[in-house]
Amino acid sequence: MEAKLQTHAEVNLNAIQNNGLAIKALVGKQLIAVVKADAYGHGAIPVSKALHTIANMFAVATVQEGIELREAGIQAPIFILFSPLPELATEIVAFDLTAAVDNLDFAQRLNQEIAKQPKHNSNERIKIHIDVNTGLNRCGVHYTQVSKFLTELRELQGLKVAGIFTHFATADEEDKSFAHIQIERFASILPNVSDIPMKHVANSAAALAIPESHFDAVRPGISLYGIYPANEKPIQLQPALTWKARVGWVDSIEAGEGVSYGLMYKAPSRTRVAGIQVGFEDGYPRALSNIGEVLIGGFRRPIVGRVCMDMMVVGLETSDKISVGDEVVLIGKQDNEEITIYEIAEKANTIPYQILTNIGKRVKRIYS
Ligand SMILES: *Cc1c(COP(=O)(O)O)cnc(C)c1O
Repeated sequence: MEAKLQTHAEVNLNAIQNNGLAIKALVGKQLIAVVKADAYGHGAIPVSKALHTIANMFAVATVQEGIELREAGIQAPIFILFSPLPELATEIVAFDLTAAVDNLDFAQRLNQEIAKQPKHNSNERIKIHIDVNTGLNRCGVHYTQVSKFLTELRELQGLKVAGIFTHFATADEEDKSFAHIQIERFASILPNVSDIPMKHVANSAAALAIPESHFDAVRPGISLYGIYPANEKPIQLQPALTWKARVGWVDSIEAGEGVSYGLMYKAPSRTRVAGIQVGFEDGYPRALSNIGEVLIGGFRRPIVGRVCMDMMVVGLETSDKISVGDEVVLIGKQDNEEITIYEIAEKANTIPYQILTNIGKRVKRIYS
């Protein structure tokens, strides 16, 4: 099967389990495994199944992502990180999802919904977590308004405030001073919420580098997949994903001939080139046109010319023994060489998160 794919990604679930265990051991708190965006391109269902004894809760971005996990048989608590549209209250109750809440309108809709759905008995409550805005300023209840909001929520008999959380703006930066201001703002509301069992703040960067942010649980995403969000590396993480493609064409072109759309690369002399059947549709950054490298035959070789939608071309050395069907590594190791996601992201002027989440549907994930 693997041998018949033009491009695929190998996902090492064992690496994700080890990363989860290492993070949990470092922080000594509960683990909310962030599997939004299809587990950062690794596949939310297999990743959640692999983490079922390690994670205390799974976090996703949307109600739809939560429903997909429930339909796949995930029974652990599923947390929606962003306060959903009020009209999604029906689905949240029906699929027993735990939503972030930052407005009363949505809270009221949830409260009405639990009464409506007959499978719930009259004293059953739906759990919610309050999203607190401590300075990221993209969602959440302002930290100075939390006690007022809690008073309003107490009127709603169908809801149980099971958690309260905030999210950092700069935890991945060298300068942690604003992160500490956010922790102080969050801590300032805690005397009023001692009855709320789960207080959580830390993303990967904070889980790895800001112990004061660990509270009752941490909420790592990128680090589960083996990628460091910042310079701090207190534990060994193992990258879980290797992206491969195959050689589709090998030929030589004459000196002065151009390659790919726009002919932006010109062969300085007679040059062997290989066509690789992967392109920007698959999520390989077009920004790597003429500047990226891949591993082929155990060596780094340059991408020549533009990355197309479905193809790109690699320059070979005359000594390279490459033929159609040979393996090409876009991200990961081949023999003694490695191309890291950090290198790809830097050349594409973006972050590893975007490289991972852009890897397309055509790239079949193969699990080991
Ligand atoms: C995505 C997200 C996380 C995880 O962030 P990482 O940097 O991937 O660890 C945690 N909390 C919230 C609210 C998020 O949106």
